[in-house]
Amino acid sequence: MRRGIAVSPGVAIGTAYVIHDIFVNPDTKRLEDSEITAELASYETARDRAAGELRTLEKKVEAQVGRNEASIFAIHQQILRDGAFTSKIRSWICEDRMAAEAALHRLLGEYTGLFARTEDEYLKERLNDVRDVIIRLCNHLVSKQQPDLDEVKGPLIVVANELLPSQTVALGKIEVAGIVTQSGSQTSHAAIIARSRGIPAVSGIKGILRAVKTGDTIVVDGRDGHVEINPPAETLAAFRKLEREFFDLKDKLAENRELPAVTSCGVELQLHANINGVSDAKAATAMGATGIGLFRTEYMYLTHNDVPDEEEQFQTYCEIIANSPENNVTIRTLDIGGDKALSYFGKDHHEANPFMGWRSIRLSFEHPEFFNTQLRAILRAATVFPNGNVRIMFPMVTTFEELRKLRSFVRKAHKDLENRKIKTREIPVGMMLEVPAAAVTIDTMLTQVDFVSIGSNDLVQYLMAADRDNPKVSYLCQPLSPAVLRVLYQVITACNSAKKPVTVCGEMAGQPKAFLLLLGMGLRRFSMSPAFVPSIKQIAAQISVMEAEQILESALKFKETAQVVRFMARQVGQLVPSLAMLDI
Ligand code: PEP
Ligand code: MG
Repeated sequence: MRRGIAVSPGVAIGTAYVIHDIFVNPDTKRLEDSEITAELASYETARDRAAGELRTLEKKVEAQVGRNEASIFAIHQQILRDGAFTSKIRSWICEDRMAAEAALHRLLGEYTGLFARTEDEYLKERLNDVRDVIIRLCNHLVSKQQPDLDEVKGPLIVVANELLPSQTVALGKIEVAGIVTQSGSQTSHAAIIARSRGIPAVSGIKGILRAVKTGDTIVVDGRDGHVEINPPAETLAAFRKLEREFFDLKDKLAENRELPAVTSCGVELQLHANINGVSDAKAATAMGATGIGLFRTEYMYLTHNDVPDEEEQFQTYCEIIANSPENNVTIRTLDIGGDKALSYFGKDHHEANPFMGWRSIRLSFEHPEFFNTQLRAILRAATVFPNGNVRIMFPMVTTFEELRKLRSFVRKAHKDLENRKIKTREIPVGMMLEVPAAAVTIDTMLTQVDFVSIGSNDLVQYLMAADRDNPKVSYLCQPLSPAVLRVLYQVITACNSAKKPVTVCGEMAGQPKAFLLLLGMGLRRFSMSPAFVPSIKQIAAQISVMEAEQILESALKFKETAQVVRFMARQVGQLVPSLAMLDI
């Protein structure tokens, strides 16, 4: 049994499919004579593919972002062509009989030792490039060696260090029953993906990649955050019963799909969904969401090998809007940086604190052409759906000046399209509230926006000064902490007083304990992982606004997070006992 952090509720049992990070377990076996030629050929194929990929990336990034950003791919091609690099690998395969992956591992070790002795910062930086090239080569080698997904008998439990967006895309085609990751926490990528698909997940389990191999039987308990590896028959039987209960509960809740989201006293709520792509938009419709409160566009870039141009973006937005409930979609502009990196942005730009640094609109401002392209594509797509409700939303807004600048970007995008004789229409422009500075100045910010969406995942990490992806400080990164509750209450009250629509689109909006408190604060719009819409509908039907206000009043008196959590768990338990399984 291994413990981690519960990041997506429920219980799942399945066969492990381990996605190895490069070099977690490099193959150390000695090659037989008969295997050497094939191994060499695999290496050469991987090298050709990596070179082709780099050439394409260089061309596309140069055309769409700039020569500076593209130059990194030229350097990587030089490394790949380097005579010493290749001859070492070849000789280790042929003479030392090493597998290609193990030879690359050895080479990386050699370079790391060599670079460690230099004081030169520039040279040290180059080690990152060598590592990058080696990882690219390994990806081509490993994808060949991984057992085919079809060969592993499902249902599958995916085990990985952290799920990368590109891996998620590959997994999109198969039935995944659960996700287990070594790093990450409640608001990291794997957690968000798991919740959006309604599958149990546990993150932050140290050493899990060494403890599990593909084919093992795994139990994922997403209620309290633990996994069981090859458990004895009686443990397995007990979990099978829980798994059935979880499925039954999901089926029962899904019957709420057609019902309106309304409190027991008749107040209507907007339950929207957070999505990363078209399949999530379809899931949102299936789960009975009435709109998309957050489309995270960075996933469109992250899952592309290169920069999507205006036409590609336009097509994607149209497809998302067409598949969304009531063509109602809030599109967030690129939110890259922090934990999400794009290979063509800021490659040579390393920061000690990426979450506090050059991310989101800060990066978009420095690449106006890139930013304009995205805005034009959004405006064009909005025009295709005149009866829908398409809105633009900017992430990480910190100051009033930024809002003015953002508005002028939107004006320019309209103008550029007008010059191209493309008709556009005015659409609502809003901000995400995820930086404490913006919360403090909310009254002035409200004069510049049509709506606000509170990104509580980031707001909590910045308010509590605790990295949202670091399991060591997850005890601080708590949306139910008294400090967070006070700030949320102030912001929601300010927006309601100014009659500006306000939503919470952080993960807490879909958690029953937090939902009750937000309702008590006056919030009527919630955006969450699609899978949580039915359970929030269920709990909403059991409570009146006045009861929620009383619960809030009591909760605000506590001085400690744990007291709030215990109190709220009791409230949820009394209202809808069966939801305990879905509340984390
Ligand atoms: C948030 O910060 O709450 C949010 C919804 O945005 P993301 O999780 O994509 O940072
Ligand atoms: Mg955010």
